[in-house]
Amino acid sequence: MILETSNIQEARVFGMCGSVANKQALSQTDGSGREVIVVGGSAAGLFTAASIARGGRAVRVLESMPQLEPAPRTLIVTDHFRNQMGACARESIINEIRRFELYTDGRSAQIALKQPDLIIERSRLIPALAREAQQAGASLSFDTRFLGIGPNARGLRLEVETAGKREELHADSVVGADGAASRVARASGWPPVETVPLVQAIVRLPKDCPPDTTRVWFVPDDTPYFYWLIPESAERGALGVIGEHGSDTKRCFERFLEKKKLEPLEWQGARIPVYRSWVPVRRQIGNGEVFLVGDAAAQVKVSTVGGIVTGFRGALGVAQAILNQGKSGELSALRRELATHWMIRRALHHFEQKDYSRLVDLLHTSARESLGEINRDESARLLWNVVRRQPRLILLGLRGLLMGKAGKS
Ligand SMILES: Cc1cc2nc3c(=O)[nH]c(=O)nc-3n(C[C@H](O)[C@H](O)[C@H](O)COP(=O)(O)OP(=O)(O)OC[C@H]3O[C@@H](n4cnc5c(N)ncnc54)[C@H](O)[C@@H]3O)c2cc1C
Repeated sequence: MILETSNIQEARVFGMCGSVANKQALSQTDGSGREVIVVGGSAAGLFTAASIARGGRAVRVLESMPQLEPAPRTLIVTDHFRNQMGACARESIINEIRRFELYTDGRSAQIALKQPDLIIERSRLIPALAREAQQAGASLSFDTRFLGIGPNARGLRLEVETAGKREELHADSVVGADGAASRVARASGWPPVETVPLVQAIVRLPKDCPPDTTRVWFVPDDTPYFYWLIPESAERGALGVIGEHGSDTKRCFERFLEKKKLEPLEWQGARIPVYRSWVPVRRQIGNGEVFLVGDAAAQVKVSTVGGIVTGFRGALGVAQAILNQGKSGELSALRRELATHWMIRRALHHFEQKDYSRLVDLLHTSARESLGEINRDESARLLWNVVRRQPRLILLGLRGLLMGKAGKS
């Protein structure tokens, strides 16, 4: 049952008047509605809550943080984000990217984007999503940590800690949107997902870097992934890297910063999931059902390790599944999308320096055009167009895949 104290807490956070908060509390405590509890009030959780509430179900979000103060994080997303977010996307967009520059071993290639990528600031995105969820009718409770889950006569029983006090809540459906180390997933019997470290330093933007251009460096001796510099304004940018092991990644990153003569002004970082195969998003516990969305379900494009757009797609799919009591077309499409990114990552993961040099050389004008015309959230179409215009890339990709199979890395 939903506690009124939490609603008062949430009403304060959002400046809601008491009567609105109480109406929400009543609609969720009278026992007539089939309640959904979302654990995790970040990108995927709030997007799920808004979608479910718009479909007419009572939904409550539990967030362990004491208040709505998300840590700053500079993120790059494709234009797809605008379609997903609608009008409120504007609030979180801080810059637009019109070009990518790829560097490896003294070579470079430029890709002009037909639709600009967007730089968004997470500390603006989360409050915008929270407001959307609330306006749709969801209630949010902060300082509320999920501890465990089990069946009860009607559905599910959740053990939570609110402001240091343990209590029980009940729901028909629970959505785990609690990130890569999801406690909901572990408590419900999903195996852990593999994670990699991602670290970003906010730096002064170098004078030779235009504010509408993202730079990417492939340095396979340091990481099978890449380094990037994404400008968030004409003055500042986020320089980042994805690695495989925390301490090696840190050492390589410090060396890279030094080489580029860049001083970190702020740090951002966390472990993010690596998608290796589809994580089934639903489990039955007694008469209740548990779902996972976002990082909790490893819904991350493993080619570039972006999780916002795909996490929103997973959220929408789970909301559809809850509202329609069944399958969701969005989840099937997301599964295909994530599988294509896994194939690209498997090919790239075993590239040596000479492979990256060839890749950049092979990106002649027509292949570059495909990369610029179609965004990364339509990976199958993108891949097909690139190889149609530059068939030798297939051989290079196959070589990467075969090297992986032979265990070379
Ligand atoms: C430095 C960095 C840069 C990134 N850059 C990009 C990028 O450029 N583009 C992109 O698309 N993606 C990027 N990502 C990945 C992206 O940020 C994530 O995929 C996305 O934020 C995941 O959102 P989520 O809601 O699934 O999980 P999270 O953001 O991890 O949210 C989980 C929420 O659950 C809460 N929680 C956890 N446990 C509990 C509990 N027991 N009870 C209650 N609440 C709980 C947490 O407090 C948190 O609010 C980046 C990640 C990092 C770390």
